[in-house]
Amino acid sequence: MTNSEQIFIRDSKIAFDRKHRATLRHNISKYDQAVARGRQRYSHFQQAREKASFLKGCAVARLPELLLEFEKNITARGARVLWARDAADATLFIENILKENDARLLVKSKSMISEEIGLNEHAAEWGAEAVETDLGEFIVQVAGQKPYHILTPAMHKSKEDVASLFHEKFGTSAEATPEQITRFVRKRLREKFVTADVGITGANFLVADVGGVGLTENEGNGLMTVSFPKIHIVIAGLERVIPSVADLPFFFQHLAAHGTGQAISVYNSLLLGPRTAAETDGPEQMYVILLDNGRSQLLAEQEESAALKCIRCGACLNACPIYQNVGGYTYAATYTGPIGSVITPFYNGFREFGHLSFACTVCGRCSEVCPVKIPLHELLLLNRHRKITAEETSFGWKAALKTFGFLSRKRSRLDLAGGRWKNRLARIAGHPLGKNREMPRFAPLSFSKQWKNKIA
Ligand code: SF4
Repeated sequence: MTNSEQIFIRDSKIAFDRKHRATLRHNISKYDQAVARGRQRYSHFQQAREKASFLKGCAVARLPELLLEFEKNITARGARVLWARDAADATLFIENILKENDARLLVKSKSMISEEIGLNEHAAEWGAEAVETDLGEFIVQVAGQKPYHILTPAMHKSKEDVASLFHEKFGTSAEATPEQITRFVRKRLREKFVTADVGITGANFLVADVGGVGLTENEGNGLMTVSFPKIHIVIAGLERVIPSVADLPFFFQHLAAHGTGQAISVYNSLLLGPRTAAETDGPEQMYVILLDNGRSQLLAEQEESAALKCIRCGACLNACPIYQNVGGYTYAATYTGPIGSVITPFYNGFREFGHLSFACTVCGRCSEVCPVKIPLHELLLLNRHRKITAEETSFGWKAALKTFGFLSRKRSRLDLAGGRWKNRLARIAGHPLGKNREMPRFAPLSFSKQWKNKIA
């Protein structure tokens, strides 16, 4: 059993933690209500999903060409594009930029891709401080944890948990309200923004035809991360690219409606390179790191490449009955929930993460809520097939499945054994599924045998 499989089995016990369940249920129910209101704003909701799916599907189909167009246009605006094959390349680029500029303090706006490359841990190794500036990210950083959810990093914490955490770490009131905590964090972060050497953001969208980076957020920390420091580094997955700026307003609204239920997020920016001679603020240097890290492998797969359409709204996590029970940390991966279970094996290997495709009841709820219509539950089944047929699956398991496939192709083969033997075998076969899974009981004689006996 791999390390992350062991973690999954160990940590899924959190499903029986009543407090964790109550916090999660409360936060997801608030999200459900907001998104239900957001959906009502659409006069043609399903058509909007069709449109988003079509546009992102076209972008994925033209990915290499659009990325080159993006590179050409943003380079002409003075930014530098760096192509990273994997996390090691990306962190090396950042380390070099920091060294060349003697940079020690980094401010970061929310970016799951920086988690993917382990940026905070690397920054500490280089002797630099990386400060999270999104409130949820700041909370989990203070708690010494990782983001729990791709959109709502501190979803597992109640307001009382946060008040007690800040009381312990900063001496604020143990009964501090969310407003008081927000004011405290804002004041603390202002000092960081004005002294930071480098600002690091992700990218919600890379806009090919104008060479711009689309950022959407609610707290204004993204804009401050971009505006104050002299250097801005964008880290973006290859799949973030869209063809035209004409589609950007639609995607900003579509993401907000499915991510938080808003008509549109509060701050929406299109960043067009570093500061020009005519501008008074903005970074003097801008770098865009385009990260592959397994995305090309995903792109090469005819069906699984649909996962590259994801706009990271988090809707599939909130809808997933497994996520709702085991929570974000059990996956032991940066991207969790249904989309995480689809893409993580491609990014980090099937050997270590292929088991995630079994963390699914195949209810199809994730595919129903996805704003870009990714057939997530079908892709999870494909991943299961890949995991089972992959070389690393044990010989015994593969042989058992082959035998089962052979026997179940013909009724007469299945009837070779009577009910007593079938029940014995089912008990042995059911063991790897865990003690909470019960195999059905076989009757002493199969239906077809009983039928034959009756006719005879
Ligand atoms: S797969 Fe779909 S629902 Fe899940 S995060 Fe991506 S866009 Fe949202």
